[in-house]
Amino acid sequence: MPAALLRRRWRALVTATAVAVSLTVPVAVPATAAALSLPYPPGPTPPGAHTGVVGWSPLEETTAGTDWSDGVAIAPGEGRTLELQQEVDGRWVTRWTTTMPDDGTYSAAIELTRHWRQAPVTRWRLFAPGTAQVAPAVSGVKVVRTTWEASTDPRDLTVLVTKDRGVTPRDFVPGRLAAPDMAVQGTWVELRPAAADALAELAEAAEEATGKRLVLVSGFRPAGYQERLFERYASRHGAEAASRFSARSGHSEHQTGLAADVTQAGVPFTEFGGTPASDWVAEHAWRYGYVVRYPDGGEEITGYRGEPWHLRYVGEDLAAYLHHSGETLEEAFGVDPGVEGAQRP
Ligand SMILES: [Zn+2]
Repeated sequence: MPAALLRRRWRALVTATAVAVSLTVPVAVPATAAALSLPYPPGPTPPGAHTGVVGWSPLEETTAGTDWSDGVAIAPGEGRTLELQQEVDGRWVTRWTTTMPDDGTYSAAIELTRHWRQAPVTRWRLFAPGTAQVAPAVSGVKVVRTTWEASTDPRDLTVLVTKDRGVTPRDFVPGRLAAPDMAVQGTWVELRPAAADALAELAEAAEEATGKRLVLVSGFRPAGYQERLFERYASRHGAEAASRFSARSGHSEHQTGLAADVTQAGVPFTEFGGTPASDWVAEHAWRYGYVVRYPDGGEEITGYRGEPWHLRYVGEDLAAYLHHSGETLEEAFGVDPGVEGAQRP
């Protein structure tokens, strides 16, 4: 088959998250395309005819947030409905539906890992309901094993900052900062705009649910301020003790503008844990793209004692994944704990 014709046949792009299906973006032909063939010519199909879905390779491993392209052919395909289904609690649930083009072939580019906001699903399949003329058809199951990749770019939502992994460049300042529309207290109360908007929404929902007001007490902090802060703690408690609850200069998430220390109004932030607002935040922050970055009992992994007040904005996808999996950022990224760095100069 000529390459140009093949490209046209695979022209359709489908995304699981988009409401509308885009048919205009050309995508690369997957390696499986050449192996696909249609057992029926286009046109009416005899009653009771065999029907099938070809393509949609079963096992996959992927980096979360990336699209998955796979070639799919339905025979007979003309005008058939195609459903993308995910397995939720042992049942197949349709996430998305489209109508196959006349030739019955698709290149489906689907964001398979952007679904944890609904449920932590890893099993997917395609289903074509039967019609008066043909039987239903189902594809093999695609099991998606997902990995997340830590970024070293402090502008990325997936940036990982630990005692071992400092902010680069060391004097990084976010391009834009904004104060969230909520109660604030102190000098450093700005965040990256997306994080600020999400935190304001979180605070509003927290107050609605608990009757307690959430207060932002620390957002973006520059490297120089962190240096003075750590030195102050170190002179009071000793450097080793200080490093269990305070980051050294250039190693604070606060420098990215994606970390927010919050508390309940009238409560010192160090006593936030166990308050109604804290309990609510721990349970619901993920819906707003935030996670409690340093959970109780996680010092071996994160290098820090539990800090129920320190929230980190990672975006809704990763936050949902962390919530459902119960993992810390270090675990999701598969990186070594940052504890060793505590002893380094
Ligand atoms: Zn903090």
